[in-house]
Amino acid sequence: MRPISYARVQDADSAIRTIRNHPSAAFLAGGTTEIDLLRQNVLHPDLLIDINDLPLKLIEELPDGGIRIGALARMSDVAEAPAVVERFPVISQALVLGASPQLRHMASMGGNLLQRVRCSYFRDPGSACNKRRPGSGCAALDGFNRGHAILGTSEHCIATHPSDVAVALVALDAVVHVEGTRGARTIPIDDFFLLPGDTPEREHPLEHGELINAIDVPPLPMARRSLYLKVRDRESYEFALTSVAAVLRVDNGVIGGVRLALGGVATKPWRAHRAEELLIGQPAEADSFARAARAELAQATPRAHNAFKIELAQRAMIRALESAKRMGEPA
Ligand SMILES: Cc1cc2nc3c(=O)[nH]c(=O)nc-3n(C[C@H](O)[C@H](O)[C@H](O)COP(=O)(O)OP(=O)(O)OC[C@H]3O[C@@H](n4cnc5c(N)ncnc54)[C@H](O)[C@@H]3O)c2cc1C
Ligand code: SF4
Repeated sequence: MRPISYARVQDADSAIRTIRNHPSAAFLAGGTTEIDLLRQNVLHPDLLIDINDLPLKLIEELPDGGIRIGALARMSDVAEAPAVVERFPVISQALVLGASPQLRHMASMGGNLLQRVRCSYFRDPGSACNKRRPGSGCAALDGFNRGHAILGTSEHCIATHPSDVAVALVALDAVVHVEGTRGARTIPIDDFFLLPGDTPEREHPLEHGELINAIDVPPLPMARRSLYLKVRDRESYEFALTSVAAVLRVDNGVIGGVRLALGGVATKPWRAHRAEELLIGQPAEADSFARAARAELAQATPRAHNAFKIELAQRAMIRALESAKRMGEPA
């Protein structure tokens, strides 16, 4: 048995000071990822720094129409917050479609962004995994890779990013506020998630001991009509095979604004830039939606068991855009 120390801190300074002196320490929020992986012998922190007493649970309406979500706000509280439901339904829906009610009550927003991949080889210390042990290989490349990524992959890792709400936040251009020994900084959310490339063990740009304080979602009036579509093997308590966060504004039949991001198919929450560029200025019709979906998935690299995701993701994009279009039509 490995001994693990535990410390409970009351403010951000103590959290950062404590972790700075412990290269193998980790912050503990809801524990729904951290404790799982500790039990599975995948993570080996020697000290858990419980940050749950930090005042980071607020969900605030910003005067400009955006919202600020504290890193320790629970998924369930964010999903139900009136400002989120009214201004950014895509966030609320992505949260409600994730995990289970019990988990959503425990799990924090900061922890959600930093949750680890669900690749079964990553979670099996007996398997080769470059993410868990750099340089050891990737058992998924020629293994059972039905759930793995087709976008943003490398020859070193093909695990999908598991978060649902991160997909919505990427579509909305959210910003992550972090604080560490070298001060505070903000990171645009699309830069917060790294592609695996040659270094799949690096999933985000945080340095050891940097603490997420909050996530800002900037104002976007058209996001009042937005949605999250999640396709999975069973209707609840399951990660996405593919998902779409969609925001659409149609002006006199023409697409005047669009935000699209995909989950379940890529190594990071995937902003569908190609599709967005093709959609702007086009008639809001099935042909435009299909063309954009095809263009986005043209860059896919499937493996033996996951080629079906190409068609699935295209269909999900078209369905999400059709639904978003209907939301803007008079009842
Ligand atoms: C059975 C199961 C099903 C799930 N299904 C889904 C799903 O469908 N969709 C989905 O999106 N998610 C799903 N999840 C994942 C779940 O949402 C995450 O485990 C959860 O959001 C993590 O939050 P936490 O507060 O428990 O984080 P913790 O486990 O406490 O921490 C996770 C990581 O983040 C770090 N950390 C936490 N907070 C901070 C902070 N403020 N600053 C810096 N580092 C921090 C920790 O050190 C740790 O490395 C599921 C989880 C389980 C167990
Ligand atoms: S896909 Fe990534 S996480 Fe899974 S075994 Fe390969 S390197 Fe590890």
